[in-house]
Amino acid sequence: MSWTPWQIRCDTCGRFVRWGEEDTSAPFDTAALEPPDDEHYCPRCARELEEYYVEQGWVPNDWIKAGWQRRAAARLGLVEAKMGPRTAWTSWFKPDKVPDGWILVSKEPSHPESEKADD
Ligand SMILES: [Zn+2]
Repeated sequence: MSWTPWQIRCDTCGRFVRWGEEDTSAPFDTAALEPPDDEHYCPRCARELEEYYVEQGWVPNDWIKAGWQRRAAARLGLVEAKMGPRTAWTSWFKPDKVPDGWILVSKEPSHPESEKADD
């Protein structure tokens, strides 16, 4: 992985973000042939978004999930699942609402609820 010296800005508040402090997600964009642009968040906006969505009780489902989205999902007890072994994207679900046939990809085995895979 190589670092480029571009300055990045928070897409939420417009402030410059220092490299290594940014949080990034990439939205789904099914209409475009090119990969969608990443969304960047400064640490302050990432924290605010995390708190906001924890209060709302859900987490936006981006193609590439931001750190704050993962933290909010973990606090809400949501699990991450994908449609099949070759699916590149995942969705958040309540542990008892994962559709049949979906595969849990939760990477936190410390969470007992996320280990209900039936194989
Ligand atoms: Zn910001």
